[in-house]
Amino acid sequence: MEEKLRELKTRLGEIKDIETAASVLAWDQMTYMPPAGTAARAEQLATLQKTAHALFVSDEIGHLLEELQTETEGLDYDSDEASLVRVTARDYERERKIPDWLVAEMAKATALAHNAWVQARAESNYPHFQPHLQKIVDLNIQMAEALGYQGRIYDALLDLFEPEMKTAQVAQVFDELKTELLPLVRAITEEKDAVDDDILFRDYDEEKQWAFGLEVLRQMGFDFERGRQDKSAHPFTTSFSTNDVRVTTRVYRNRFRTALFGSIHEGGHALYEQGLRPVLERTPLCEGASLGIHESQSRLWENLVGRSRGFWTFYFPRLKEIFPEQLDGVDLETFYRAANKVEPSMIRVEADEVTYNLHIFLRFELENDMLEEKAKLSDLPEAWNAKMKDYLGIVPANDAEGLLQDIHWSSGTIGYFPTYALGTLLSVQFYNQALAEIPEIPAQIERGEFAPLRTWLQEHIYVHGKKFTPAELVKRVTGSELSARPFVEYIRAKYGDIYGL
Ligand code: ZN
Repeated sequence: MEEKLRELKTRLGEIKDIETAASVLAWDQMTYMPPAGTAARAEQLATLQKTAHALFVSDEIGHLLEELQTETEGLDYDSDEASLVRVTARDYERERKIPDWLVAEMAKATALAHNAWVQARAESNYPHFQPHLQKIVDLNIQMAEALGYQGRIYDALLDLFEPEMKTAQVAQVFDELKTELLPLVRAITEEKDAVDDDILFRDYDEEKQWAFGLEVLRQMGFDFERGRQDKSAHPFTTSFSTNDVRVTTRVYRNRFRTALFGSIHEGGHALYEQGLRPVLERTPLCEGASLGIHESQSRLWENLVGRSRGFWTFYFPRLKEIFPEQLDGVDLETFYRAANKVEPSMIRVEADEVTYNLHIFLRFELENDMLEEKAKLSDLPEAWNAKMKDYLGIVPANDAEGLLQDIHWSSGTIGYFPTYALGTLLSVQFYNQALAEIPEIPAQIERGEFAPLRTWLQEHIYVHGKKFTPAELVKRVTGSELSARPFVEYIRAKYGDIYGL
């Protein structure tokens, strides 16, 4: 077994190296590459991805996995060896079902769609993007058919991002959330003048904002010997090894929230990546359990820590030192409330904690309609706007701030959006569990001591890498299943307090 395991790891390591090289190129594209490099970079990325895919679905890997599945039967389910074979076999079966021509078609379609989307968004011209979206929906339907599914067609695609999650379960959790959130958003909207966030739109020097973000990241435990922060149009995290994790953010002079909460959010993703066990390096286990679990880590730091009263008890005096004029006469409570203002808005990535999930419901429902061909794509703007009105009570002035706002569809991904909401729900479940085990966490945060929380996350979540499915991990850590209830209770308590409801 040792010999075959070594052989498997060698092959997987080489594939991971190619994938990582592609990640470096993608990171460069988003940060420093001059715009004219786009076409060549698309070719380079496609070549690396195709090569990695071909090496992975090879017969040799299939044989090794088959033999190792029998030989690892006696090992503990959560041992590194049994987990490596189990998780790799699952990925292998899935990837083998996707025909090469479909991979190539998707790569080509998304390269064209991306450019069309950039232009369509700039001109707020949905008809320009629609034929590309049609192509992407068609290819996703073929992808789902190739992968196979038992219930809804959406299941096949959702599984790519959130292993073993089912559309029916997402729909049920979302329905429960809707029942609670919609009346709450209405009640808060009636009290909207109770919170004024004008102070966050004053003139904040960009370099000082940047330096403050680095200070917070360092205090959270982000290791700058093993990572760095750069600027990009859309914040993201990527990892080249546990010793080289990159985060990005963007800075606006007159919008204080954007840079800092971007840094904290990506910092949460990065702590997960830096906290993976080095022994899993260069294997498929050396990553987060799923996109939803990954998002639970970023949302936990961004919201439960970064938007908490305790966090600002520690940081507000420091922030006043950095921005004495901008925050002259502002007290902690005013700042805390401003940072947490709830307001229905058009753009998902800028939404507050309460309205954020409403943006996800809309996308989840429209994606299902597209795949099940219940909606004509020519009617998509009307469908989008009608749902915005239903959920948020506002309607976009144009398609740029409506259905053209997100990059996901142009990049070929359908089935990804629910993971944002699932991660948000899980962030509260995980945080509650940490509090149950270490009740001092809020007091520690007030003193700027984040190590106990980070260590708890390390020992309970990071350490497992991708060994477990999301459901297995949630059960193992919290003893329960995914649920909307803890999030709803958290939101009710926090915003009931802020808005006096
Ligand atoms: Zn995220």
